[in-house]
Amino acid sequence: MMTKIYSKTSSKLFERAQESIPGGVNSPVRAFKSVGGTPIFFKEAHGAYLYDEDGNRYIDLIASWGPMILGHSHPDVVEAITKQVNKATSFGAPTRLEIEMAELMKEMVPGLELVRMVNSGTEACMSAIRLARGYTGKNKFIKFTGCYHGHADPFLVKAGSGLATFDIQSVPGVTGGTAHDTLTAPFNDIQAVQQLIDQNPGEIAAVIIEPVAGNMGCVPPQPGFLEKLRILCDLYGIILIFDEVMTGFRLARGGAQERLGVKADLVTFGKVIGGGLPVGAFGGNRDIMSAVAPVGKVYQAGTLSGNPLAMTAGYTTLSILNQHPEIYLELDQKTKLLRDKIAQALEQNGWNFTTNLFGSMLSFHFDVEQVTNFEQASIQNQETFKKFFYHMLNQGIYLPPSAFESYFLSNALSLEDIEYISEAASTFTM
Ligand SMILES: *Cc1c(COP(=O)(O)O)cnc(C)c1O
Repeated sequence: MMTKIYSKTSSKLFERAQESIPGGVNSPVRAFKSVGGTPIFFKEAHGAYLYDEDGNRYIDLIASWGPMILGHSHPDVVEAITKQVNKATSFGAPTRLEIEMAELMKEMVPGLELVRMVNSGTEACMSAIRLARGYTGKNKFIKFTGCYHGHADPFLVKAGSGLATFDIQSVPGVTGGTAHDTLTAPFNDIQAVQQLIDQNPGEIAAVIIEPVAGNMGCVPPQPGFLEKLRILCDLYGIILIFDEVMTGFRLARGGAQERLGVKADLVTFGKVIGGGLPVGAFGGNRDIMSAVAPVGKVYQAGTLSGNPLAMTAGYTTLSILNQHPEIYLELDQKTKLLRDKIAQALEQNGWNFTTNLFGSMLSFHFDVEQVTNFEQASIQNQETFKKFFYHMLNQGIYLPPSAFESYFLSNALSLEDIEYISEAASTFTM
């Protein structure tokens, strides 16, 4: 089951990495723990292809977990950041670039009036929750099981308020006090949300959700779910936060809000917005966003926020997407084609699976009827997924190394690549 084509160098580097980096990686999923074996160490990427330290080429179906929507080393992005690097890489002071970035975002995203730049999706979500709490004066918030909003304390809670009562760290490092204020509901379950609101009257500041979930595979919202969430939030004075770190600028120029026609009060961004550099952002209407310092009292800051190099990569990427909306149509078509071809191959070989797709996000789940929430995602057959992962990897196709992650397509992926991938899938037999 282990991979054949990568060899000496990645294994050696992984051993060396573990001597000086916890688990050898700077973010856990990279360690290949859920598929077993040794992670691959990369050194270059162009268009739809990744190149590892041994010189092997892989078709990339992750796109750095989303950001590289135009493909790797896009010539316009490379040119823009090369120019910027010769001017300055950081001031810690205002720049014209930040205004241009904010103006472009406002042009693309519905309802965005003020936007604050940060350095990661985690920072964006963490700041949005603080803002919602500061603005409403309420402490609790609702999140959905299986949705990921970065690694800030309040989002890592699973057990909810039960354990929190005893001030126990149910997630090591997260206090019971923090856990107490995080309420969780199953994705796509509006009754559960209503129940939490009823049980915590006047206490809920915000509901945060991935409008199309991408951290338990791809799990789209069921028809009416987000609309009902919007109504509940309006009814009870709750701030609705769309975590569009994955979906923003990926599903449409205006992200999930545009694509699904539901408006959030606050929106968080990351991934695509940085064009491959570390960028995040959160924004909303002028009223709520005016509670952020230095206008308002909700403190939020960052030494490298709005960094000129990062702004340049992000601005160039967003400009291309803004000027070429046909990219979204092409991405949609390629993703459907890829889904159809892989599904056909798996079916022919007798595999039992279900597949979810939304825009350029896609996932396959073995031995489960349907996946509309985390509970269903967690009963999929992970052993078969592992086999599929290595079957594809051995043929130079880099899938997300976890059954709980979505594929993210880049528009650099060609029809020939899709054909190659489907041929590889067709030899995946029992
Ligand atoms: C990736 C992700 C985050 C966290 O972003 P980082 O840049 O990794 O901190 C938050 N929310 C969603 C939906 C994500 O996919």
